[in-house]
Amino acid sequence: MSLINDILNNEDFSKQDIVSLLAISEKDEQDLLTTKAYSVKEKYIGRKAFVRGLIEFSNQCKKNCLYCGIRSGNSKVARYTLTDEEILSAVSLAVNNRYNGIVLQSGEISNQSFTKRITELIRKIKKEGGEDFRITLSLGEQSYETYREWFEAGAQRYLLRIETSNEQLYKKIHPDNDLHSFETRLNCLKEIQKAGYQTGTGVMIGLPFQTLEDLADDLLFLKSMSIDMVGMGPYIEHSDTPLYQEKENLLPLMERFNLSLRMISVLRLLMPFINIASTTALQSIFPMGREKGLKCGANILMPNLTPGKYRGSYLLYENKACIDEDADECLDCLDKRVQMVGEKIDYENFGDSKHYFNRYNPVS
Ligand code: SAH
Ligand code: SF4
Repeated sequence: MSLINDILNNEDFSKQDIVSLLAISEKDEQDLLTTKAYSVKEKYIGRKAFVRGLIEFSNQCKKNCLYCGIRSGNSKVARYTLTDEEILSAVSLAVNNRYNGIVLQSGEISNQSFTKRITELIRKIKKEGGEDFRITLSLGEQSYETYREWFEAGAQRYLLRIETSNEQLYKKIHPDNDLHSFETRLNCLKEIQKAGYQTGTGVMIGLPFQTLEDLADDLLFLKSMSIDMVGMGPYIEHSDTPLYQEKENLLPLMERFNLSLRMISVLRLLMPFINIASTTALQSIFPMGREKGLKCGANILMPNLTPGKYRGSYLLYENKACIDEDADECLDCLDKRVQMVGEKIDYENFGDSKHYFNRYNPVS
């Protein structure tokens, strides 16, 4: 206990400090960490969460990541792409529910007509949602020109998870070819920053072969990259993927869940001003998982606005939460769930990453 206390009183954390915090297994020590992280969240962000509606607009993907249920090699998936009308009606649902932004996510598609379609779509979404409406893209690896084109069309934020900052581990969970290169992914992340976006990345937690040292390095990577937003959550196996064969070598689900919460807390201590998402993967393991994430230092929720009939076809992992609900039902329960943990949703502000505006401020 006193070791954890001492670490939490440090101004900054060494890698070994972070490993010790991630290794916590006693409840009272976990409580100490959570309380400290929440006090930092309260001070710099407040007792609140911001929402962005998630639109999973296509499950077409040219990549074949070994962990992902919608990888191109999974022939059991019924492939879909939403029409503009379906996307715009999800945007209007977001607006009617006072959300001031959406996240547009899909498998990785890169060609000229896709680029143009997204550019046009960003303009249409701005018409529907208003000039200030926030658009986050999560459309994988693209060229710098494409990132710029979408930024100029009006998207303000981009999410591209590095998945793991350990290149050797990255290689183990991806096919060994140029389409799945760690170097390219890292370069894309840097180009997203250069293009002007509020830049988000993140990792999967509890991957096979992953150590606490890897995760400590991941957190230090996020800090060294001066990332503005983070989405990270537990790895959850999918039986139609090659990585499923490692299922015996995983931490039990609840341990992955608790480790993910500790990752969120340590990150909040390391980077007080950034936006941290409480992911659906947390909710998929534990019903109040996303709300727990808020109490551990996260401040962003991304309720699913994908039309109900497509949700079962966007299974990155199995047992995903909220796949059999209609979009509207999900929205209704959100305010109540957040209130249950003593927080509220801030509908008045855009919830831009404070870190983005402070990039050169040494305290952030
Ligand atoms: N194709 C884009 C965006 C969609 S995938 C991209 O890859 O960037 C979004 C995220 O889902 C991935 O970054 C990955 O971290 C996560 N994901 C995929 N399979 C997962 C699994 N089995 N468990 C947990 N997260 C997973
Ligand atoms: Fe495609 Fe993204 Fe899944 Fe990889 S993680 S297979 S890029 S959707």
